[in-house]
Amino acid sequence: MKIKQNELLVSIFLLCALNFTLPVSAQRNVLSPAVFSSAKIEGIVGRKLKNCVENGVMAKDYVLYTKPFKDKLDKGGGFTGEFWGKWFTSAALAYSWQPTSAYKDILDKAVSELIKAQDADGRLSSYPRTEDFGFWDIWGRKYALLGLIAHYDQTGDRESLKAACRATDALIKIAGPGKKKLTETGLQIIGGLSSCSILEPVVLVYERSGEKKYLDFATYLVKLWSEPNDYNPRGLRLIEDALAGVDPILIAAPKGYEMMSCYEGLCELYRVTGEKRLLQAVVKFGKSVLKKEIMIVGSGSSGELWCDGANRQTEILEQPMETCVTVTWMKLCYQLLQLTGDPVWADQMEISLYNALMGAMVEEGKWWAYFSPLIGERMPSPMQVPVCQSSCCVANGPRGMLITPGWSVMKGKTGPVINLYSQGNWTQKLENGTEVKITQETDYPVNKDVQIHIGLPKPANFTITLRIPAWNKNSKLMVNGEVISCKSGTYTHIKREWKNGDKIQLEMDLRGRIIRAPGSVNELAVMRGPIVLALDSRMVKNENYNLWLLPQGTKWQSKSELGGLKYVLPAPSLSANSPVQYIELTPSPSKPANVWMAFEVPFLYRYTHFFDHKQINLTMCDYASAGNQYSEKNLFRVWLPQPLYMNDIFPENTWKILYREGNTRPEIPIKK
Ligand SMILES: [Zn+2]
Repeated sequence: MKIKQNELLVSIFLLCALNFTLPVSAQRNVLSPAVFSSAKIEGIVGRKLKNCVENGVMAKDYVLYTKPFKDKLDKGGGFTGEFWGKWFTSAALAYSWQPTSAYKDILDKAVSELIKAQDADGRLSSYPRTEDFGFWDIWGRKYALLGLIAHYDQTGDRESLKAACRATDALIKIAGPGKKKLTETGLQIIGGLSSCSILEPVVLVYERSGEKKYLDFATYLVKLWSEPNDYNPRGLRLIEDALAGVDPILIAAPKGYEMMSCYEGLCELYRVTGEKRLLQAVVKFGKSVLKKEIMIVGSGSSGELWCDGANRQTEILEQPMETCVTVTWMKLCYQLLQLTGDPVWADQMEISLYNALMGAMVEEGKWWAYFSPLIGERMPSPMQVPVCQSSCCVANGPRGMLITPGWSVMKGKTGPVINLYSQGNWTQKLENGTEVKITQETDYPVNKDVQIHIGLPKPANFTITLRIPAWNKNSKLMVNGEVISCKSGTYTHIKREWKNGDKIQLEMDLRGRIIRAPGSVNELAVMRGPIVLALDSRMVKNENYNLWLLPQGTKWQSKSELGGLKYVLPAPSLSANSPVQYIELTPSPSKPANVWMAFEVPFLYRYTHFFDHKQINLTMCDYASAGNQYSEKNLFRVWLPQPLYMNDIFPENTWKILYREGNTRPEIPIKK
């Protein structure tokens, strides 16, 4: 009887998988991902996605990624085992977005190559058996499992699920109750976090197989997190410390990416158990990361570690914002958006996508940055592992980019939920089977107008939900010309009888905003909608004077005894509690090729005392375009000290603090 139930469960999962929807546990989702292939994203996001797929993911020589498993390349402590799964999960996302038979062939071949490297007892590792639990052994196994599961989800191929089950069985055999504790494996200095992140695929294997032994192992593993062990005398305490609001830098070990990966696993465990405490822990953790570590462009870390980044982001940091951190932060936000329906996570994903992530994508998706600074220069990731022609972030970047179709327009309980405003069209089936087509006409965030056309075969009652970003203080929303009230930082739900041809107009508040650095640092930055602006050496020259940002509404004074001279008296600097200050931005009449957006930004020049004050405009561009020549000659900066000494805007040679291992600046190692 039990077997039959399992088989039934499996066939339900299989049906779901073939329809490219999520399995049963998705009921726990407040918002569900879109059917990827129904999201026809155009505009800049669509172009970046397409380039990422065509020039990057699908152009890779994926056979190289199975070598680590076949030849046990990680003997002695390597991490090449991660590449296959990182690449494969990207490829699976790409295929789900553009399900062509050519892409399916690639997936099928890559999986069959990997399965060839699986041992008779199911072991699937890039380490020799004598080095079970080596530094990155379990970490690499995790990625292989995630890839196999992604293949099963996309194609329904039972062999992939079987291979994943067998690999998990082999792991349980050596790491189950009474055996080696995973909390005491992997690189000791990162406290077992890398190994413990295997929680995510273990739960996914349970969901798809229906076999309780996998859930038991997942529950056992999470219990271990609370127990003192050789690596962590207090225990990892990922749940307890998150719930207590401990700063991320003080939880377990401060390895940002691996830590977030563990919380991604907790999201999956919550999906199958419904245990609220788990979700509460992840929500609290996510909020702590946002408050303490995430920098203005939507990423964090220095040298891959949490670094009190929100407070320290104005410094010239070593190896800041690893792309793996950007991607995992976005994936964690995506999980939280699905599970809570709180738009704060979608706001964050939008900021990360347009700034940190797009800025890290090199040469139209062929390569990626390892680290991305807020000041200095961009540098392509060095080739960490020539034998696999890859680097951790090069393999990971696409995973952040390619979740976009999933969160762009999601499925709410009562209708579509629009998160991403972009040219394109989306189709979604309502509960009653009616297909609604959402067509967006916009070049937002370049311009503020978004027009959304609704296509329906017949009128239907349902809700269309729109994300109104937190920064969008003064927006206008209309349906067929009728004004609808909306509030920033919330979702606006429009429930009505929708008809074919109905039109939603949303006007975004794209006024320039002055952002004050956290803490008491006297530095400011400028944002426009979700876009962070930066000074770029192609557009700004060194000068021997100081400038101050000039907010809108600055009081110019004029005294006749000074011969009619206009001047500005100093005002106290903005306080953290002051309301938003705006700044007038004018689109720049000219900009270098490859720069997406550029604006003239007003600054105040004071010759001396109250004499000869005047406005000087500097050109600022979007952060992702800033420094995008990826050369030591193309310098940029985001944070602006007040005053900004114009002869010292751009520190040089910062590539040397991005890359320690050589005397030559890494170049983009792309095959033509
Ligand atoms: Zn990385």
